[in-house]
Amino acid sequence: MKLVFASNNAHKLQEVRAILPEHEILSLEDIGCHADIPETADTLEGNSLLKAQYVYDHYHCDCFADDTGLEIEALGNLPGVRTARWAGEPANPANNRRKALQELAGKTNRNARFRTVITLIRGGKVQQAEGIVRGSIAKAEYGNGGFGYDPLFIPEGYDRTFAELPAEVKNTISHRARALHALKALL
Ligand code: IMP
Repeated sequence: MKLVFASNNAHKLQEVRAILPEHEILSLEDIGCHADIPETADTLEGNSLLKAQYVYDHYHCDCFADDTGLEIEALGNLPGVRTARWAGEPANPANNRRKALQELAGKTNRNARFRTVITLIRGGKVQQAEGIVRGSIAKAEYGNGGFGYDPLFIPEGYDRTFAELPAEVKNTISHRARALHALKALL
């Protein structure tokens, strides 16, 4: 079955194709979509729905889209839907990490989780799947692997950050991998 994944991120496409080998996964570029799809909702559920709905409405094909947020317990689940641009526009991962360390300075509760929501639209029917990895925010940055907040995020059950752990470990337990397995169960 052909499925459009509403992304052009090469890393994500590779991850999706590895978890869903029985499906032909097309990127936005593959279907000629070069639009900057609006992500104006105030929840991860809303934004992943906006992206999937855009592709479905304009290209009339089965598709899915994802949206991810870092939710920090002591900050009332911020930055959440604002994760990519928490420290302001344009999105800057180093500034975002600095902001996370500043906001948590002096706080003992450093619990956090990454949450990914995937919206699938098949034959017009909308379904959502979720993946969560719990962990905590380190007191400083550690490691050079991964991207985004990885140097700060220590997954539960480990004593190293996502940026220090081998990619195979992260890709097995990550929010996105778990959401993709939940999507696979829907397909
Ligand atoms: P997106 O919805 O996948 O674009 O993710 C939104 C933002 O969350 C990204 O810009 C990153 O800052 C952060 N993020 C998403 N996934 C990860 C991850 O696996 N590690 C670290 N940061 C992530």
